[in-house]
Amino acid sequence: MAEPKSNELMEKIVSLCKRRGFIYQSSEIYGGINGFWDYGPLGAELKRHVKDAWWKTMVRLRDDVAGLEATIIMSPKIWQASGHVDTFSDPMIDCKTCKGRFRADQTDEIPCPQKPSKCVNECHGEKTEPRAFNLMFQTYVGPVQDDSSVAYLRPETAQAIFAQFKNVLETSRQRVPFGIAQIGKAFRNEVTPRNYTFRSREFEQMELEFFIRPDEVVEAICGGVAKPEGDGHPGDPQPNWGWQLWHKYWVEERIRFYEGIGLPRNTLVEYWQTRQELAHYARATVDILYKFPFSKRDEKGELKGEELEGIAARSDFDLSQHERFSGKPMGVFDEELRVAWKNLDQAKQDELWKRYYEARKGYLERSGVDAEQASKDATEDADGLARGQYIPHVIEPSAGVDRLILALIADAYSEVTETDPKGKSETRVILKFHPRVAPIKVAVLPLLKNKPELVAKAMQVFNTLRREMNAYYDDGGSIGRRYARQDEAGTPFCVTIDFETLEGMKDGEWAGQTDTVTLRHRDGGRQERVKISEVLPVLLERVR
Ligand code: ATP
Repeated sequence: MAEPKSNELMEKIVSLCKRRGFIYQSSEIYGGINGFWDYGPLGAELKRHVKDAWWKTMVRLRDDVAGLEATIIMSPKIWQASGHVDTFSDPMIDCKTCKGRFRADQTDEIPCPQKPSKCVNECHGEKTEPRAFNLMFQTYVGPVQDDSSVAYLRPETAQAIFAQFKNVLETSRQRVPFGIAQIGKAFRNEVTPRNYTFRSREFEQMELEFFIRPDEVVEAICGGVAKPEGDGHPGDPQPNWGWQLWHKYWVEERIRFYEGIGLPRNTLVEYWQTRQELAHYARATVDILYKFPFSKRDEKGELKGEELEGIAARSDFDLSQHERFSGKPMGVFDEELRVAWKNLDQAKQDELWKRYYEARKGYLERSGVDAEQASKDATEDADGLARGQYIPHVIEPSAGVDRLILALIADAYSEVTETDPKGKSETRVILKFHPRVAPIKVAVLPLLKNKPELVAKAMQVFNTLRREMNAYYDDGGSIGRRYARQDEAGTPFCVTIDFETLEGMKDGEWAGQTDTVTLRHRDGGRQERVKISEVLPVLLERVR
């Protein structure tokens, strides 16, 4: 089986990440702290570029998405409304022999604390019954530590978006359909953090809540709801899209994003959650998986993949919960609906009214509201349609930054073995990051460091480039060594300032132009001669 090879690859990746300053163990000098990781100089740049790429794609380049940056600690009522206080838990079991604590659904993979290299089944100890373990980290707000001051570190960024929905709607001049995006830290006290940074206790998320009209509203306005046809991207959003097409659209948009930063489609898996796996309020959820080296294999030996992102159609559950718990209205007024409703015949009005009523009543009853009250409230909600009022539904693409960083590193990792003229061979690492996310975009290298003219020119080029992108200046060691160092850091381009730069010579001949440099490409090692004035535009085109 290829299993050991995968582990070997992970070992190489972990050691490279430490050696080159991508990822360190948090608090390493004190022996580390399980489930927490720090990003070193290269990792911090990589992470920043990934988040910038997401923000640019999801917010800046779209007219229909606005950004948000909320606090990590929020009113604990938010977590009651969202269901996290009651249900955000994993089933935990203890081993009576080795005293290890495990997730009941993952016992076959967890290292036994007594024999860390072995799995828990080696231990064969008797296990306790599973019990729910809430994953939220608790703290206290203010000087008094009692039940009334308990607060939580947010386990996801999404809830702040729902809580601020009305404020953003009012201040951003957006109208449904539109989205609110946020990037930020999230905390989960995972029972068993594992697979390097894949399952951490502190991590970052990039989340979008995209608010859409309920299907009944789309039908009232457009006369019908378009049905998804065939595979692939459904194209530009249309007014007659219901939740199914919006959901499909976001799945495809997100896959395009991953491809655009260098994860080929064949490394990703689109996994549709089964009915049993779906949350009770979700209509459909697609997980985008990446085939990590540590992923399990199917019967054909193919990697199955692990979750990078989940894209869920969550109905109007979240806004409805916050409306009930806060007592503040979370619905919107939609003039197009109000006008369209008046023009529907009675039979159509009755049909849409009934469907909306049933959906609202179903939600209320599932949330514990008694049947009589649920019927009364649902009637009020359905009556709101005629006034142009409803609670938006939502599609949620929710991605983890750290898992994506690990996927990008794993995917970029490659080795080359080169033999020198004396027959000595050496294997070295090249990280083939896409230029958009590469931590260093370009390294500027004077051929010799003891030639002041070369150094002055190199500094001039470096100072121009560093204003626009992350550039690195390196004058230490042979040029071959310096290229190899940059390959290992994943730098896609090197600019070398050599004597031709100064003299306007090319291949020993006067070329009639000064100020050219060697532009060296990491992939394939191709070198081309480029005018200094063209370096910046050439690079900008590739790294943006
Ligand atoms: P899993 O099933 O792997 O625990 P999840 O389904 O609970 O993940 P979500 O609640 O959907 O995850 O969170 C959205 C995204 O946040 C995930 O797709 C993942 O990328 C990231 N994420 C969640 N938990 C962690 C974690 N413990 N460490 C790192 N990233 C995480």
